[in-house]
Amino acid sequence: MQRVLSLLVTVAFFTVTTLPAQAVTLLRDPDIEHALKQLAKPVLTAAGLSPSRVKILIIDDRTLNAFVIDSRHIFLHSGLVTKVKTAAELQAVIAHEAAHIANGHIARRMVNARSAKTVAGIGMALAAAAIAGGADSSAAGALGIGIASSASRAFMGHTRAEESSADQSALRFMVRGGVDPQGAVRLMQIFSGQELVSAARQDPYARTHPLSRDRLRHIKAIAEAYEGRTKANPNMDYWFSRAQGKLSAFQRAPKWTRKRAAESAGQDIRLMRLAVSYHRDSNTAKALKTMQQLLSLRPRDPFYHELHGQILLESRNVGRALKAYKTAISLAPKDALILGSYGHALLVSGNAKAALPMLEKSRARDGRDARVLRDLAQSYAKLKNPGMASLVTAERYALQGRMKDAGIHAKRAAGILPRGSTGWQRAQDVLLASEAAQKK
Ligand SMILES: [Zn+2]
Repeated sequence: MQRVLSLLVTVAFFTVTTLPAQAVTLLRDPDIEHALKQLAKPVLTAAGLSPSRVKILIIDDRTLNAFVIDSRHIFLHSGLVTKVKTAAELQAVIAHEAAHIANGHIARRMVNARSAKTVAGIGMALAAAAIAGGADSSAAGALGIGIASSASRAFMGHTRAEESSADQSALRFMVRGGVDPQGAVRLMQIFSGQELVSAARQDPYARTHPLSRDRLRHIKAIAEAYEGRTKANPNMDYWFSRAQGKLSAFQRAPKWTRKRAAESAGQDIRLMRLAVSYHRDSNTAKALKTMQQLLSLRPRDPFYHELHGQILLESRNVGRALKAYKTAISLAPKDALILGSYGHALLVSGNAKAALPMLEKSRARDGRDARVLRDLAQSYAKLKNPGMASLVTAERYALQGRMKDAGIHAKRAAGILPRGSTGWQRAQDVLLASEAAQKK
């Protein structure tokens, strides 16, 4: 579990309080993202989209929302992931967003296609999404980005016609992907009633995706027509339980987690949740003992080795943490987030020289992990390369939607890096996005 701006050696959960209120925070965790990928695969494929090209990302926000800003990312609020009760409900969310992509509802929204491909573009769009989704006005002001609320609503919100077409397609994708269409009905029931709530108390989903009684009726009718076309899929239940189990283990009180760990869809998931809960209680001995049980049950699971590494690192067993991360990488050599964790551990151990190539490898594969960008800046600074340190700092601010700060650091980077070099070019991308954001 990685959070923006987490301190070097601390229990990740508590560092969230150090976040400035205005930052849009992506919650990056290799295990959760892998599980979400398994859940997304059947519906994305049914939608004619490539599961390896469309990434499901979680935003650290307790309200209910899901949205798309381009054709390569589906964003889910953590509140929605923990609120739904079944795999089919979560797959219904993904299918609906996939339908917005597949039906071409977002093409016209990407105001600046060039910057959308960069971290700066993602950050800018996320900031706009946060405002459209109803981030309070003080937070919106603090974003340092002048996108007017009405403009961003036009940018993010869907029309009723689009909602209806997305619902219809989503149900088709679900059935084609073997997902029970009743999941879409139950999801709508979670949102129903939102219409009647005052705008201030509505979840942002109601604002980005207009709700109506017609919509619920329509979804019910289609789901009924598909009745009996799908069967239960324990595999999907497993991945859902794993994603939700890990997310809640880091977000809910450890006691809450321990009370419910037995409800997990697998012995391994139960142990993982328990280990995290003990770790968060600073009961390292019990956390590590539980990890040993988990690893003997699943010795070839890279994500459990990664968690082992995190627990060791955060309890200051740096040497053993490095070993655990190495094992994780040997089992999943291409996982950007695991590479990033390993790079982080190397940096903590004082070895910036070894950390740098690992972090660069991670960034090249992903680029949306703020912690990797922060660690990279630190490595570059330690290795006496202030130009690159400024550049990745600029990119990190841009990713968080803090376009003004991003511009300041990008300007500094552009002044140091050789004109025309790749780094200099990247600094120009951030500068352009920052200027565009402040002009609006
Ligand atoms: Zn929608």
